[in-house]
Amino acid sequence: VCAIRPGAIVSDTCASFATLDSLNKNLQPYVRSLTSKSDFFSYYRLNLYDKECPFWSDEGGLCGNIACAVNTLENEEDIPAIWRSEELGKLEGPKAHHPGKKQQQERQQKPLMGELGEGVGESCVVEYDDECDDRDYCVPEDVTATAKGDYVSLVDNPERFTGYGGSSAHQVWEAIYRENCFSKPRTSEQSIGVGASGSSPPFGGFSGLQGQAAQDLRSVMKEHGRHQALDGTANDPLDFEDECLEKRVFYRVISGMHASISTHLCWDYLNQTTGNWGPNLACYERRLHEYPERISNLYFNYALVLRAVGKLRDYVQDYTFCSGDPIEDRRTKQMVITLADNIPAGPQIFDESIMFQDNDPSVTGISLKEDFRNRFRNVSRVMDCVGCDKCRLWGKLQTAGYGTALKVLFEFGQEQSEGQSKPLLRRTELVALVNTLDKISHSLSAVAEFRKMIEARDEGT
Ligand code: FAD
Repeated sequence: VCAIRPGAIVSDTCASFATLDSLNKNLQPYVRSLTSKSDFFSYYRLNLYDKECPFWSDEGGLCGNIACAVNTLENEEDIPAIWRSEELGKLEGPKAHHPGKKQQQERQQKPLMGELGEGVGESCVVEYDDECDDRDYCVPEDVTATAKGDYVSLVDNPERFTGYGGSSAHQVWEAIYRENCFSKPRTSEQSIGVGASGSSPPFGGFSGLQGQAAQDLRSVMKEHGRHQALDGTANDPLDFEDECLEKRVFYRVISGMHASISTHLCWDYLNQTTGNWGPNLACYERRLHEYPERISNLYFNYALVLRAVGKLRDYVQDYTFCSGDPIEDRRTKQMVITLADNIPAGPQIFDESIMFQDNDPSVTGISLKEDFRNRFRNVSRVMDCVGCDKCRLWGKLQTAGYGTALKVLFEFGQEQSEGQSKPLLRRTELVALVNTLDKISHSLSAVAEFRKMIEARDEGT
């Protein structure tokens, strides 16, 4: 088995791609059925509207919202309102407010049904999930105000083309990649290195930055430009030898997430001329096919998240699923266990044990793991700066999903050595994890279909 080790580069010629493709083929039906058929995994609770972007303001012409985004759709006023990016980015379907703590306590004694729409049990709402754990890799969605979250249907709001783009989207991506600058460790209080005024300059192809931020970012891009060249060749002997493993993993996770989002928007794309939705091959070629490194990072993320879901097997045995319907609860639990059972056990797919071995805080003041965790939390905070509701929903869900995967991989099993209690997973974390797996799994299938389209086209010419 050519497994993905965090230290390895996955390339087209490595059997890892084939191994993961075949695993995906077998596992996809289980994942799909969990995310589309169980109430537990198809509704997500998050605070979508009440959190302000903590890193820059949209005052003074600095773009942080859809209103000043340069849309990728041209001449929006010429197309039907329903196809405009603002419309496309809106959420669909039933939505229910999360009750406050007092209400939760009252309802635990006397549950009410029906608020979440057809068939969604109230007991899913009753959860005390506002506690923050130091071992979280994300800022929990519901850590501040218990009453601020909304439930949204993930089935009714697929991740697809929304028309969101331009400077607002670029500013967010830029801030995310900037977190990869590990030269200066982040403490838990430190946030993203924006300019002295507290606002970040508009995106200029990663060149509009000033000062230290610019230096940091240029060095990251330089490094990763080099990686791109290396990734084109299988098992290059240099194999990023000179770079810290954890830093590389961080970059691959965010680049793989970006690649998955790009895949979905190209796969479910709006043809403005016909008004039809469908795959857009040119979009795929421009954003992904020309960058094997991005596709390799997608596979990397699949391996990482799959390994985390596999590790949940024992954890979910004692987990209470809460649809309110005991038969459905048993079925959901059994489905998760079956999925985990079918994931190769041990470090065959992804070996996380080689990470964070050199965890000496005396060098930087905080451990590398803590630094890594703080940076990932910042990535999750940046999602509040995404100026399109649907993109923000999936951006938040997927960062929470990767954050949960990292928590499972690096915090579970550590409690004895660190003298802490076993970390718990909130419902939102479990839902985000499984749906993130579903997103990557679907991206892998979409990439395979896009490749077939390219082959068919090239054979025909
Ligand atoms: P972008 O995708 O914006 O990329 C900016 C730059 O990053 C590129 O020029 C390139 O240098 C680099 N880059 C691109 N991909 C990678 C990669 N995989 N790894 C490393 N570097 C890379 N749009 C939708 O239509 N639907 C959505 O659901 C959606 N969700 C989004 C969620 C988030 C969190 C964000 C920030 C944006 C989202 N968008 C979505 C917008 C979308 O991601 C693009 O920003 C937009 O389509 C404009 O694309 P672009 O070609 O300018 O390049």
